[in-house]
Amino acid sequence: MAGSALALWLARKGFTPTIVDSAPGPRAEGDHVEVSRRGMELLDRMGQGEQVRALGSNHTQIRNHISGRTTPILLPFDPGSVMIRHDHLVRVLREEADRLSDVRIERLDGDTVTGLTEDEDGVNVTFAHAPTRRFDLVVGADGLYSPVRRLAFEGPDENRLRRLEANVATFETPNVLGTQDSLSWHTWPHRGCVAATLPDNERLYVVLMMRDRFPVLPGSLDQGALHRLVQEFFGADKWCMPKLLAAMRETEVTVNPSTQVRMNVWSSGRVVLVGDAAYCPDQLSGQGPGTALIGALALAGELAYADGDHGRAYFSYEAAVRPTVREAQAVAPQSVETGAPEVEPYEMWVRERAEAALSRGTRLMNRLGFRPAKDPVGEEFALERYATMFDDRIRTA
Ligand SMILES: Cc1cc2nc3c(=O)[nH]c(=O)nc-3n(C[C@H](O)[C@H](O)[C@H](O)COP(=O)(O)OP(=O)(O)OC[C@H]3O[C@@H](n4cnc5c(N)ncnc54)[C@H](O)[C@@H]3O)c2cc1C
Repeated sequence: MAGSALALWLARKGFTPTIVDSAPGPRAEGDHVEVSRRGMELLDRMGQGEQVRALGSNHTQIRNHISGRTTPILLPFDPGSVMIRHDHLVRVLREEADRLSDVRIERLDGDTVTGLTEDEDGVNVTFAHAPTRRFDLVVGADGLYSPVRRLAFEGPDENRLRRLEANVATFETPNVLGTQDSLSWHTWPHRGCVAATLPDNERLYVVLMMRDRFPVLPGSLDQGALHRLVQEFFGADKWCMPKLLAAMRETEVTVNPSTQVRMNVWSSGRVVLVGDAAYCPDQLSGQGPGTALIGALALAGELAYADGDHGRAYFSYEAAVRPTVREAQAVAPQSVETGAPEVEPYEMWVRERAEAALSRGTRLMNRLGFRPAKDPVGEEFALERYATMFDDRIRTA
């Protein structure tokens, strides 16, 4: 996502980027992400917001199911954000690049960077498959477990990962709950479930949060073991869990530990990181795609303004994006605490009563004309500083 957006903006500014991606194609179906309100504003300015909204989910309400009540608490959804399949969003960005005839982006799909050797004028890059090449700059937009980060930055990479003591299972299933345009949510002590409808309401995207100090690392368990893990956590739960667990057994489940990337500096010489590779806010924050897009815009913009001085560009990029990242990284620890609270059952009961009372207050406020609080992450980001990045689209289209 960050890589596609960055390449598009760099190419508009006359750079000739090469994208290297280990994946032979887009990420698997079933992987849904949320684009924050600020991220959507940015896509609107690019002229692609409507396309993304058309492909994404249009949730009108959050249904908070609490124990002992037959009807959920209904909360309005912030209409500014959109949930969309990861590969659909990337495709929108790629199609925009294809549409602009004067944009030049080279792609090396199915390959990966294995070595970086920097000198005064550039970086020699070795690949798993392609022959060695020389580049002026290298950007690691290669996600949470970024290989570029490990190659370019010294010290154990594990020290840059902040685990949030929860594992998150995700899967996609037919809409066994029959819900319409909504996001259903239920929590129990140490665990929680979110089931969101996807466009057409025919399918559900299910997120299961499991409080645990031991991270389930990618690839460490096979599908059978992952299914058993989820079953153990939620097997005794009521609400819709019997239906959702039965649906899960028919499909593949992905489990990732809730994780952030924390770094004091995002560049080393000619190498710089963007998106999850530099500052992953964690999938439970709902801020990853938005901050990836904001970071890509700022990095491209600063490289364009810096007139060849990459050190200056990297410095300005960090200064522009850090405040947004700080806000975004504050979200996930709260999401873990709300979504899978570390409480005893009696505390859960008290908490749910408080939520019900609060929601009555919120509904009253809405009737009186007060709208729900908007997602404030990225409000301070100086989008206008990069306005020329958007103007170019109009000139070259
Ligand atoms: C299962 C899952 C569910 C998620 N759900 C949500 C959600 O609900 N809400 C939300 O906000 N966020 C969610 N996220 C996080 C969100 O996907 C990221 O924050 C966002 O995609 C960040 O964009 P990025 O471009 O930095 O990284 P990515 O989108 O992860 O892109 C990284 C790219 O690097 C490539 N790559 C990786 N390794 C190599 C290598 N060795 N060599 C070459 N290329 C490589 C990958 O193929 C990929 O194209 C989820 C993530 C996952 C994994």
